[in-house]
Amino acid sequence: MSTVRDRAAWLKGPAFQCAEPPPAVNRAWRLILLGAPGVGKGTQAELLSSRLQACHLSTGDVFRAAKNLTECERSPAMNAALDFMRRGELVPDTTVLEMVRERVGCLTCGGGFLLDGFPRTVAQAEALQQILAEQEIKLDGVLSYELPIAEIVERLSGRRTCTKCKAVFHVTARPPRREGVCDGCGGALIQREDVRPESIRVRMAEYAKSTAPLTEYYRRQKLLVRIPATGTPEEIRDRALAALQGG
Ligand code: AMP
Repeated sequence: MSTVRDRAAWLKGPAFQCAEPPPAVNRAWRLILLGAPGVGKGTQAELLSSRLQACHLSTGDVFRAAKNLTECERSPAMNAALDFMRRGELVPDTTVLEMVRERVGCLTCGGGFLLDGFPRTVAQAEALQQILAEQEIKLDGVLSYELPIAEIVERLSGRRTCTKCKAVFHVTARPPRREGVCDGCGGALIQREDVRPESIRVRMAEYAKSTAPLTEYYRRQKLLVRIPATGTPEEIRDRALAALQGG
């Protein structure tokens, strides 16, 4: 069964309804996905969403979708968030939390959820804990995708992005048929600035400072499930599913 849903209530806000009702599931999974840039968290969220039927709730996707709404369709909180995102900064906790609170219906949805990109700081995690407690919802686990930094640098720095259609290739894992040329549209492939080794190390340092303390936060709550992020995307997904079923 296809689980690619429009996620309108998440992406556009509570004034919008999802096209489909929540899926009828035997068990609604409520999970958080953590992982440094480059570990493949977004891909894992999609693979798990297909298997568990839980909705993929990415805060980054909400901000990206908001760019396409008109000014009056956006809440004041969203307009403020976009200013931070445009400057390449993390959106302040208060703004992110206001946005998540507006979408609390997605956290109580009967199909469950996979949070991706939120929480990003311990303050956000504490606030989420309070929101979930108010709704009498319990988290089932926090999947932490882990990979040695050398491998992250190798994965990210090998990425090449099409300047025209934005398709993503990898010099060894997914090479284009002709070097430097997009298979799909023939556009030129470039290495984005944020995946150059020097930028990756800066991003990793930032991640270590603000987001990595979350693993300790959830370890203490006995919710942390460490998943080695090596192998194919499907192998990693199956590892996570086995850990969840065994837990
Ligand atoms: P992502 O797709 O998760 O990398 O998010 C893209 C951008 O959205 C980030 O660079 C931030 O500007 C913003 N963002 C997404 N989620 C959060 C969050 N939980 N806290 C702060 N900023 C966020």
